[in-house]
Amino acid sequence: MLKGRTALVTGSTSGIGLEIARALAADGANVALNGFGDAAVIAGIEKELQARGARTLYHGADMSKPAEIADLIAQAESEFGRIDVLVNNAGIQHVANIEEFPPERWDAIIAINLSSAFHTIRLALPKMKQANWGRIINVASVHGLVASAQKSAYVAAKHGIVGLTKAVALETATTGVTCNAICPGWVLTPLVQKQIDDRAAREKIDKGRARTELLAEKQPSREFVTPEQLGALAVFLCSDAASQIRGAAWNVDGGWYAQ
Ligand code: NAD
Repeated sequence: MLKGRTALVTGSTSGIGLEIARALAADGANVALNGFGDAAVIAGIEKELQARGARTLYHGADMSKPAEIADLIAQAESEFGRIDVLVNNAGIQHVANIEEFPPERWDAIIAINLSSAFHTIRLALPKMKQANWGRIINVASVHGLVASAQKSAYVAAKHGIVGLTKAVALETATTGVTCNAICPGWVLTPLVQKQIDDRAAREKIDKGRARTELLAEKQPSREFVTPEQLGALAVFLCSDAASQIRGAAWNVDGGWYAQ
């Protein structure tokens, strides 16, 4: 379906972004990768996607830096012509009560989890509109729909990206470009493993129990959402069947938001 199309997935060296990149490549897309990590591991990811027939490039832009984001978009467009599928996925977390929340962590979360999507969209959209085809997929979170304590910056950024998604969906409503958000519940990635480890240390319990408690507290299915499930949803949102899905904030959360 995506043969001849190009996807840029931010934060695709790990977790959800990596699996979305794999799913889009498996569907035929060329993929521009981004994110931090060991050079040899990133080269391995490129090789893996190339073995599936994808052309790839990697750009290490720090998504908190608008000038580096501009360079990422310019390089992807010069290599592939244009970006057809833009997946804004890069994200970080910090957990603390608001009185103890370090202001520089607030700024980093807003920059990486929210403002980076403003920059990638404003820069990639003109060529999508020109081609009258495009898919913008913002990886928000169930925290874009409901809050949890001690996550003020993350919740604010994720509610913000759901709002950004709706505004962009309206601005592109009469074009072949769609913009939607995916709102996952708990997915077992390094971002969540850190919260499990912190919980185990704080409550002096083993990591298995910390994991079970973390799930039981919020996610009625008591099972993690898998990155592969999110990759499959991203591929669906790129399909013709999804061309009238616009401005959605699609929760994939084991029932979290239904409570
Ligand atoms: P992860 O830590 O496995 O991956 C994060 C990716 O973002 C990595 O590739 C990392 O290198 C990259 N990144 C971080 N800071 C960056 C920066 N400044 N510039 C460029 N890249 C940067 O985490 P994940 O769980 O896969 O998270 C991916 C997205 O999914 C995030 O937006 C996160 O908020 C969202 N999300 C995760 C969960 C979950 O339970 N894991 C749930 C809902 C939403």
